[in-house]
Amino acid sequence: MPSDLASAPAPFRFDNSFVRTLDGLCVAWPPAQVPSPQLLFFNDALAVELGLDASALDSAAGASIFAGNTLPAGAAPVAQAYAGHQFGGFSPQLGDGRAVLLGEIVDPRGRRFDIALKGSGRTPFSRGGDGKAAVGPMLRELIIGEAMHALGIPTTRALAVAGTGEVVLREHKLRGAVLTRVAASHLRVGTFQYVAARGDNELLRALADYTIDRHDPALAADPDRYLQLLAAVANRQAALIAQWMNVGFIHGVMNTDNMTLSGETIDYGPCAFLEAYDPATVFSSIDHQGRYAYGNQPQIGLWNLTRLAECLLPLIDPDLDRAVQRATDLLNGWPEQYRSALLRGQRARLGLRQPEHPDADRDEADTALAADWLSLLHTHRIDYTLAWRSLADAATGNLAALNSLFADTDAPGAWLARWRNRCATDVPEAGGDAAHARAQAMRRASPRVIPRNHQVEAALRAASDDGDIAPLRRLIDAVRRPWDDDPALQPWTVPAPPEVTAAYQTFCGT
Ligand code: AMP
Ligand code: MG
Repeated sequence: MPSDLASAPAPFRFDNSFVRTLDGLCVAWPPAQVPSPQLLFFNDALAVELGLDASALDSAAGASIFAGNTLPAGAAPVAQAYAGHQFGGFSPQLGDGRAVLLGEIVDPRGRRFDIALKGSGRTPFSRGGDGKAAVGPMLRELIIGEAMHALGIPTTRALAVAGTGEVVLREHKLRGAVLTRVAASHLRVGTFQYVAARGDNELLRALADYTIDRHDPALAADPDRYLQLLAAVANRQAALIAQWMNVGFIHGVMNTDNMTLSGETIDYGPCAFLEAYDPATVFSSIDHQGRYAYGNQPQIGLWNLTRLAECLLPLIDPDLDRAVQRATDLLNGWPEQYRSALLRGQRARLGLRQPEHPDADRDEADTALAADWLSLLHTHRIDYTLAWRSLADAATGNLAALNSLFADTDAPGAWLARWRNRCATDVPEAGGDAAHARAQAMRRASPRVIPRNHQVEAALRAASDDGDIAPLRRLIDAVRRPWDDDPALQPWTVPAPPEVTAAYQTFCGT
């Protein structure tokens, strides 16, 4: 029997530093009441990590909280204000149009997290929107968040998705849902843009100090802390985007309001994973120019960081020219920082040791080796995930999996010879089977299971059209084991037929 929340201790021990510290960045706002809360998915694993009472929350009383009908004790719900560049055009006021921050909790490891509801009704920031969300997009955010987390990529996660019993009107009538989002914070580049656009330098300093306190406390006493904050955010984004690129993830809508200061991936709308390797891949139905194409993501990351830098200028140096110079010098180093994060991941995937000492020649040669592998995949339209995974087999001389991907099995021969020669230059660990160890290390770097687009869609269709959650549960179980060689996972490794991928479109789900 689920325990009764009314007699249980408060489900969340809220400690709401954002509303306590920052005046003028949010509006107190309750979630809307909905007719019929129902828990579609409760994330036990995450609840346990957060030190929450999972059995108390996985209940009708929990559904009422996660749908927005019951405010848990200590919550201080607010809609947060932010601005943002959307597809390059600036909106000085966006804000939480369909979300509220309930409050913050501190987990048993001392990490602070926002607990927010998404799809919880209109707010003062809703503009023309209805403030609602549909089951499909909220379950997609759940699936991709779990997959990214299992892949070791910083991400917000869903603690629960609750059905509301409402109909949400989009192109079709859809079932309504609310997602409970757990995030290191919801501080975005757009949050800084909101304050900077108002020219409120006092609030800007308070926001920057709050961000430092929350994400970079080691900088608090640094006399140069605002430039160092920019450096820390730039660092996290270089690492994050390199991970996206190495795993084949396309965010789809890298507007500045969807880029966090924490370095977590946020706002899974029209996101998708690459199938056949092609840097020009775009799945989003609204990205007509391909601004957020797979291959553009690093460049857009830098563009967004430059917008953040502009906001921070008055704090970086009272002399504007000097502030611009210092921020520019810092961001000029970003492409190299990104490339080195990317190369680190590529070396792991190629089964190469990370060099112990800086070695520009080796970096250049390994970068070229990785780039030539990618252009081979591009030319022959090879599935990105299977290609990397089959390379691990090739490390022990087993070419069956790799050959099965190429219509012309001779195509990768020259590149493979080069790769083998390069591998041979890494001094093997003393004892043991070097090839076997290399293959195992490669399998820890290149996932076998990713959320395949067609399988995500099938699971979402079953849940939204038929109310059948079983396929979603099976998919989540699979994406939580990305490295596992279990033969039972084989069905989750299969790419979509090319004609399905060619026609595949993702939607923002607004
Ligand atoms: P997103 O595409 O989810 O990053 O949202 C961009 C902006 O549109 C944010 O300010 C959202 O709060 C707002 N928004 C998205 N969908 C809705 C909706 N259904 N109702 C109100 N505001 C929305
Ligand atoms: Mg957003």
